[in-house]
Amino acid sequence: MLRLPRFDVQEPASVAEALEALARHGDRAKVIAGGTDLLPNLKHRLAAPAVLVSLARLDELKAVRVEADGTLVLGAMVSLDAAGAHAEVLRRAPALALAARQVSGPQLRRMGTVGGNVLLDTRCRYINQTHFWRKALGFCLKKDGTVCHVVSGGSRCVAAASNDTAPALLTLGASLSLRRADGERTVKVEDFFHADGTANTRLAPGELLVAVRVPAQRAGHRGAYVKLRSRESIDFPQLGVAARVDVEGGAVVDADVALVALQARPVRLKGVADLLRGRREGEAALETAIEQAGARAYQQCHPMPNVPGDHEYRHEMVPVYVRRALKAALGSA
Ligand SMILES: Cc1cc2nc3c(=O)[nH]c(=O)nc-3n(C[C@H](O)[C@H](O)[C@H](O)COP(=O)(O)OP(=O)(O)OC[C@H]3O[C@@H](n4cnc5c(N)ncnc54)[C@H](O)[C@@H]3O)c2cc1C
Ligand code: SF4
Repeated sequence: MLRLPRFDVQEPASVAEALEALARHGDRAKVIAGGTDLLPNLKHRLAAPAVLVSLARLDELKAVRVEADGTLVLGAMVSLDAAGAHAEVLRRAPALALAARQVSGPQLRRMGTVGGNVLLDTRCRYINQTHFWRKALGFCLKKDGTVCHVVSGGSRCVAAASNDTAPALLTLGASLSLRRADGERTVKVEDFFHADGTANTRLAPGELLVAVRVPAQRAGHRGAYVKLRSRESIDFPQLGVAARVDVEGGAVVDADVALVALQARPVRLKGVADLLRGRREGEAALETAIEQAGARAYQQCHPMPNVPGDHEYRHEMVPVYVRRALKAALGSA
């Protein structure tokens, strides 16, 4: 049985108290939301915080609301289960609801939060292992070692962003509200992740993610999320694809596709809007444009042997899942 290391737990009753605790303990502390990513990682000795600052009592972070301008705001502690079932999330951001519904399995979605999913640590078949296993391998760049087992001779960790909600948030143009003891800032999701598997977000020390903000979408907004995984439940994505297609008067006016489980950050497919814009529903030209988007994705995306699943097979699946995501989005009206 894998045991947790020893740590203290603090349970602040407000965001202000949580920020104060984080500032006081510095890098000895880690935030715990649902704990469904953090606790397995602690059991694997991927981190050893002396203090966990729990967000469990912060009811102020557990609400979904819609602002006057139509912005959808999900508190960081909204569970994935609640996000996936919420009528406003389904209506205003269907790709996000579908992504939340496909994370893991029911129990973990009830514990796991939207904020924890955004901040999910990157994953790799050589790091999400016991300490004993990693030691036997000689460790790796991400922790305790000097080499990468995925990219021979590589000097940068390429562990994969594996959070299902991240590509959906990218296509929706979402932002993150981040708070520190000395202020708050808003960062666009597209600027928040970077290609470093050891730490792929721009969350600053002592900072809390308090909310995810999804701007109002066009009237003809449609969205979807599809996921390649080895079973229909519990598995992290081997590939995840989110699509947004905006349709007005029967014609596509804008589109976006983003993918996860390729590299350390979620990636946006280039040129999708140019292919689909102006194509009309029901016409062969739209089908052709979707085919072309799949082909373009095959050229742009190159899965690595970082997560489970044969990477060449995952590459072959890229166009298939891009086509499925776009068709599912179009069919979601
Ligand atoms: C068997 C299994 C299968 C899984 N399958 C999937 C899957 O298919 N897809 C997927 O995306 N995930 C999957 N997960 C991972 C996890 O369940 C989800 O990503 C979940 O959303 C994490 O949320 P959490 O609240 O439990 O995060 P936690 O584990 O509490 O935290 C995750 C990280 O975020 C930080 N953090 C959390 N909230 C905040 C905040 N508000 N501000 C600052 N830092 C914060 C924590 O310090 C930690 O580093 C799986 C996990 C398991 C154990
Ligand atoms: S990508 Fe390389 S450095 Fe990063 S976790 Fe995997 S083996 Fe380690």
